[in-house]
Amino acid sequence: MAADRTDTRTAPAPRPGILDIAPYVPGTSVLPGAGPVVKLSSNETPLGPSPKAVEAYLGEAARLARYPDGSARSLREALGAEHGLDPARIVCGAGSDELLNLLAVAYLGPGDEAIYTEHGFLVYKITIQARGATPVVAPETNHTADVDAILARVTPRTRMMFLANPNNPTGTYLPAAEIERLHAGLPGHVLLVLDGAYAEYVRRDDYEAGAALVSANDNVVMTRTFSKIYGLASLRIGWAYCPEAIADTLNRIRGPFNVTGPSIAAGVASIGDRAHLETAVAHNLAWLPRMAQRLAEIGLPTTPSVANFLLVHFPQTPGKTAPEADAYLHGRRIVLRRVDEYGLPDALRMTIGTDAENAAVLDALTAFMGDAGAV
Ligand SMILES: *Cc1c(COP(=O)(O)O)cnc(C)c1O
Repeated sequence: MAADRTDTRTAPAPRPGILDIAPYVPGTSVLPGAGPVVKLSSNETPLGPSPKAVEAYLGEAARLARYPDGSARSLREALGAEHGLDPARIVCGAGSDELLNLLAVAYLGPGDEAIYTEHGFLVYKITIQARGATPVVAPETNHTADVDAILARVTPRTRMMFLANPNNPTGTYLPAAEIERLHAGLPGHVLLVLDGAYAEYVRRDDYEAGAALVSANDNVVMTRTFSKIYGLASLRIGWAYCPEAIADTLNRIRGPFNVTGPSIAAGVASIGDRAHLETAVAHNLAWLPRMAQRLAEIGLPTTPSVANFLLVHFPQTPGKTAPEADAYLHGRRIVLRRVDEYGLPDALRMTIGTDAENAAVLDALTAFMGDAGAV
């Protein structure tokens, strides 16, 4: 039963809708018992950050008593130079999660609707609900966002559309032409948020993370992160490339020092180490098809992915289901990601790990598919 917010005798009650939010459950990182865990549950790069980023981070240790540069200017300038963007239109945040939230704070309220897709990143739903706005889910086709289905859900109350491209946890993407068609079909007052958390991994000629669309329009924002390929998840650094008016809006409502000094320094140094990024891309491009092929050979199809993870589909045969595979892998101290909350109870999401980690998963799943309830 919802708390009555006008009853002055009761304890403070959250705004309507807040208690309907199912808390985000991150990928497991600890297992009972001793020993190392092969953690492939949160899409971090197995190669870790650039050593230059670690050095820059440590170099800030002597300056912890001072507030950081609240505008994160050096980071915005480095990003601008790297991607050919105007630093004045870049806003940095404590992870891209913060920026997704700030966009919702600025543009969503009770009575408004915001669209995301069937297997879309769950932070969108939480962010929308936190504003007392209404989440609207557009069905996907083959685990891929469907532009027509999204456009069919636009109403006069629609204010935002969140799309991860590529999407987590499916790994699928929409080509630039489809994103343009999506944008062209949205009314001008609907803000299209293109979340490019995995953009650096995508090597397809028909893919664009969205910067050109942001540059040319007033209603598109692209968010990016240092948490994935840059290996700085713990530092919480994200950024958004925005139309001028939206950057101005976000700068009014963000915390005045929302990105820490060590984060700014590590982010700048990461951008300077292109070789490290290319190594991470090459590692991923080598493993994605190999892993998909080997899994297919043991009876586990995967959704075609352009990111650094695979959605692995398990049979519904007792003994071989996704929850049973998950438990079996835990027994071998391997952690993948359950994706039930994403409407995918028969799948597990596996982040591409090191050579040894990937081999360990293949060994374990080969044994699982052979042993468990053998056919
Ligand atoms: C991991 C991820 C993010 C990144 O979140 P941060 O707050 O920057 O760590 C954003 N969007 C998607 C789809 C992700 O998978």
